[in-house]
Amino acid sequence: MLNYTDRLTELMEDVVARVPTLSFIDMGDVLVFARSGRSNAEGAFATCHCLSLPASEPGYYFWRDRTTHNLTRRSEWFVTKSPVVSIGGRETKYMISFALPRFCDQSLDRSRKERFYPGAEPWMAKLDTVVHELYHIDPELAGIRRIEKEDGTYSANCHGSRFFEQVSEMVNTYLATKPNPAVYDFLREDFGSLDARHGGVVGTSFRTFPSFPQRYIERLSEQLPCEADGEGVRVEPLTTPSQPTRYTQDDLHIRQFMKDTSRRLIRKGKYRAA
Ligand SMILES: [Zn+2]
Repeated sequence: MLNYTDRLTELMEDVVARVPTLSFIDMGDVLVFARSGRSNAEGAFATCHCLSLPASEPGYYFWRDRTTHNLTRRSEWFVTKSPVVSIGGRETKYMISFALPRFCDQSLDRSRKERFYPGAEPWMAKLDTVVHELYHIDPELAGIRRIEKEDGTYSANCHGSRFFEQVSEMVNTYLATKPNPAVYDFLREDFGSLDARHGGVVGTSFRTFPSFPQRYIERLSEQLPCEADGEGVRVEPLTTPSQPTRYTQDDLHIRQFMKDTSRRLIRKGKYRAA
């Protein structure tokens, strides 16, 4: 079977080795994993998740009375933290997730990217997405890259006006270095064709599938005084959903992705007779 996330990781290693703007990226800091997404449904093709953001400032939730606007209750103090994902003892700084099989069926046709690739083959949309997600990695490895505007301030969203154009320039830079087509050829085929030719498409996912490591809330063990506390303000205990806050390679598994569903792949026992 074709391991799609392994192929994407190899492609990204080749891209960061050949595109100067992305050369600061060490793929050892980046974990590529698969999420599920149907080809005929709306949704992202891929997402860049940052794990290197520091914990937030302490905060709390609060509720106000609708008529008097006075604070009536608040939650306990908490901070928001990134989970720790460590693979083979090395902490992952970013994760890039791909929606399968949706990503495999992405095409340039009638997409908003089409104008950046006049006359290009439809699969180029996938290479564009790969470079797009890598471009979200911040050179200081602290969050999602901030986009500087012409006046020197930062854009409020992570896609500045030239973002898409810059991505297409990097795609062209990559192809101009004449990479080995064997590295990106898997992007040429759609899901149905890959699935038939390789007898299945698999990818790395988390054991907690469909959930994966995400920012979480942690109650402050030492609660702070709060200026807002006055007469009648109730402090409610925090209820935080239980989810793992640390992950290792043991929390990864291989899933097979199909048109409408996915399933965990159980490796055949090593004691099985040949
Ligand atoms: Zn983006």
